[in-house]
Amino acid sequence: MEKILDIRHLNKSFGTHEVLRDINFSVNKGEVVCIIGSSGSGKSTLLRCVNLLEKPNGGEILYRGENILDDNQDIYEYRTKLGMVFQQFNLFNNHNVLNNCIVGQMKVLRNSKEEAENIAMKYLNVVGMDQYIDAKPKQLSGGQKQRVAIARALSMEPDVMLFDEPTSALDPEMVGEVLKVMKELADRGLTMLVVTHEMEFAKEVADRVVFMDRGVIAEEGTPEQIFNNPVEERTREFLRRIL
Ligand code: ADP
Ligand code: MG
Repeated sequence: MEKILDIRHLNKSFGTHEVLRDINFSVNKGEVVCIIGSSGSGKSTLLRCVNLLEKPNGGEILYRGENILDDNQDIYEYRTKLGMVFQQFNLFNNHNVLNNCIVGQMKVLRNSKEEAENIAMKYLNVVGMDQYIDAKPKQLSGGQKQRVAIARALSMEPDVMLFDEPTSALDPEMVGEVLKVMKELADRGLTMLVVTHEMEFAKEVADRVVFMDRGVIAEEGTPEQIFNNPVEERTREFLRRIL
């Protein structure tokens, strides 16, 4: 199996506060890895380290075998390989839906406008938002905004998609439409690293589940292992609390 990401002995502190401690896990091509854990356990910081929005204090992040924390690595190139979807959408509110999906392509990938529009339409179609290309974000529901944010990330044709609680800011009735899109992406073989509180999604879609507790990976396994046969008491305790 081809490893796309391999995180080794990753550490991150804010001042004296050690937020991530000796994190080790990998993501293979075509895999969906879900990260679960209590609020404050370090999930977002981990994703932000993976896409270098935060600088780790130690360890390695191997992308296709190359440690992107080495000084000679082109982190701008690396970042174009990762798509990121945030809890709060982070759409450009003054741009319409189509523009949201083409500006990055034109600026960063140097795609022509026509090419960018073709690619954007392809992914807006995938997320079911191709009928809304002229709409501004404020005219859309939360679920629609998040689907546009997913299309925007996909339009960069990344190698891996990172999701940080993509449904946590949504009204309950809109969670399903976003999870459905994510499941479709997983079925198409997209490589995905997903921080989520949606345990049903993790059970159904994840190839592997990583449980984080206070800055460490307390347990990792298949959904079957983590949800039905957790080894660690703190995993059991977490699941009792949220299920
Ligand atoms: P989670 O996403 O699992 O809820 P976070 O990664 O957001 O957890 O946070 C983990 C810990 O790191 C928390 O204690 C949080 O307060 C701390 N933290 C996160 N970002 C910063 C920051 N920029 N500066 C200082 N502390 C931070
Ligand atoms: Mg978080």
